[in-house]
Amino acid sequence: MNKYLDYQSSKPVDPRVVKAIIPYLHDKFGNPSSLHKTGDDATEILEESRQTIAGFINADKDEIIFTSGATESNNLGIIGFALRNKEKGNHIIISEIEHISIHNIAKYLGKFGFTVSKVPVDQYGRVSLKKIKERITDKTILISIGYANNEIGTIQPISEIGKLCREKNITFHTDAVAAEGLIPIDVKKDNIDLMTLSSNDIYGPKGIGILYVRKGIRINSLMIGGGQERGLRSGTENMPGIVGMAKAVDIMEKKMKDEVKRFIDYRDQLVKNILEKIPKSYLNGHPVDRLPNNAHFRFDGIEGESLLLLMKDKGISVSTGSACSSKTLEPSHTLIALGLLHEEAHGSLQLTCGRFTGQEDIDAVVNALPGMVKRLRKLSPLYVEE
Ligand code: PMP
Repeated sequence: MNKYLDYQSSKPVDPRVVKAIIPYLHDKFGNPSSLHKTGDDATEILEESRQTIAGFINADKDEIIFTSGATESNNLGIIGFALRNKEKGNHIIISEIEHISIHNIAKYLGKFGFTVSKVPVDQYGRVSLKKIKERITDKTILISIGYANNEIGTIQPISEIGKLCREKNITFHTDAVAAEGLIPIDVKKDNIDLMTLSSNDIYGPKGIGILYVRKGIRINSLMIGGGQERGLRSGTENMPGIVGMAKAVDIMEKKMKDEVKRFIDYRDQLVKNILEKIPKSYLNGHPVDRLPNNAHFRFDGIEGESLLLLMKDKGISVSTGSACSSKTLEPSHTLIALGLLHEEAHGSLQLTCGRFTGQEDIDAVVNALPGMVKRLRKLSPLYVEE
């Protein structure tokens, strides 16, 4: 049986979500733009779904724009905002450890005359308000800092950043994909202006997500077409995806508290056992302010990829970092930003648990990993035993 500990890369769709979606593939196939009854029915469920998702983050219904997922939401939020508000300033701040989509969006905006400052993080992956403040200029119009890091699991001081942005009259975007379903999110309390969420990260289908756009924040649309989603995201609504995301939210609202407790137990077992049983092993990311389901390690003298392949042979799925850039040979930009050397970054392994993780998955890792690390170190010219 496959032991799956890579929930950060992909999650199965909850069977209750699958069941909720099926009618919208055939029987309830209406297009919300149609004026007949079938269209009206689709509009009703579209707006109901929007309301459910808004409630999950303490937003208003009209502040939710459906997109095709997190990448698109990041594009719409950041590029859409930047192009709309260029006359107010051309400076944007992100952190060194943002998701690759944010780094590439920032680079793209360079072509339109924007400059981007990247705030460094400390050894645990936290950004500091002081370092953000030092980078703010009178041209800064947007700050985008991820709610929590999708690799090392470090949670950022979102409330404080939101407060700072509001005081300075700077718009605040956060990619909350890694945090959703694990940390309660309240856009009003945290002074968030723009926020990216995806459906699959809460056990909904892939290919659907939202951008939260606070009332009063003006953005340009990037998709030109029929004017759906208040003109901000043209294209016929993905009704099975939208219904699925709303159902996933519905389930998450009921389950999150208990799930988080269980994940913390699993995560802490992994951390304790692995650090105890494997010499010269270290935890990457923040020891306390970290996602409940994330354990991220570094082992001296070995390659994470070799470890991943040995685990694969044993039927255990783990990761060395973000799936979005796993096919490049470059070390993770997040791990390098923590101050790790290339060889240290390459010796890292990410374990993330989720709704369908059981104690047997944790036991399998704890039993297999120490022997594998030992074996690889015996073969490694890099490892010196003391
Ligand atoms: N942001 C974060 C933090 C992510 O982890 C990911 C990948 N799951 C994305 C954005 C991009 O998501 P997608 O590939 O679903 O568009």
